[in-house]
Amino acid sequence: MKKLVSILIPCYNEQASLPTLYTELSKVINGLSDYDFEIFFVNDGSKDNTLDLIKAFHEADKRISYVDLSRNFGKENAMLAGFDHVKGDCMIIMDADLQDPPSLIPQMLQAWEAGYDDVFARRIDRGSESLLRKLFSLAFYKILDHSTRFEILQNVGDFRLLDRRCIDALKQLRENERYTKGMFCWIGYKKKELVFNRQDRVAGKSNWNFWSLFNLAIEGITSFTTAPLRMATIMGFVIALLSFSLMLFYGIKTIIYGDPVQGFTTLIVVVLFLGGVQLISIGILGEYIGRIFNETKHRPTYLEREYKAGDGL
Ligand code: UDP
Ligand code: MG
Repeated sequence: MKKLVSILIPCYNEQASLPTLYTELSKVINGLSDYDFEIFFVNDGSKDNTLDLIKAFHEADKRISYVDLSRNFGKENAMLAGFDHVKGDCMIIMDADLQDPPSLIPQMLQAWEAGYDDVFARRIDRGSESLLRKLFSLAFYKILDHSTRFEILQNVGDFRLLDRRCIDALKQLRENERYTKGMFCWIGYKKKELVFNRQDRVAGKSNWNFWSLFNLAIEGITSFTTAPLRMATIMGFVIALLSFSLMLFYGIKTIIYGDPVQGFTTLIVVVLFLGGVQLISIGILGEYIGRIFNETKHRPTYLEREYKAGDGL
């Protein structure tokens, strides 16, 4: 029996890219006759004709399965829906916009056959992203990398091949506040890196803006490390130590020189500084408590309207 390779594609308003994606992807996988393929689309509550397109593909091509989510749950949750349903012995995750080139698939399969469980693609060029976005993402990876026990890979997206072992591992991580890139690193297993040039989108526009990326970054940090809490504690100690030294200094000064009323500036600066530090620390605490709150509700991570497997899969 041939091995089954699932290709997971989360889609949100991708009607413009899907036809090209399907053509390009078919070209590549039709040339790989040693494997059977399942192309798995997750329609993440698209507001355009994405779902109709997917259904049409499904009718015409028996390799195509899909799940239609009840609303837009975000890429992270859409991917989990895919993990739950794909049938493959391995799975390749790809974006719908062809930013992840299908031409890398044969190389990924080769590495998989050589015994690797997680073959990920590192981009050597981030395409035409703004300088701000590049810098921001660099800073983010540095923070995460220094504060977690496992290696967080930089410039690595969700484009990768995962063995069945990894899929089953990922299915067990059911937190609501998801940061899947971190999870790939967290589960471990034998990893292999390939490099590629990230292209620009073929059509449509990116669903991310600065704020959603900023939120994803906070998500990443708060779901994988409690370092910010530790930082607040350390800051507290340092400030307490400083205050104690200042207390000694002013105490002795008052004893020697008396106490004329002075030092309004010092006072206001100290009060404002401490106020600021406290607010930041409360904010950090709040981020974690908010996450605890969301997780304790134990809501399902996504809801689906319809799931259809390709014929014969
Ligand atoms: N996506 C999704 N749900 C969302 C946002 C995005 O399923 O709420 C999908 C989208 O259709 C695409 C992939 O996630 O296949 C990456 O999205 P995008 O191209 O907007 O992100 P970027 O490439 O800019 O990181
Ligand atoms: Mg994209």
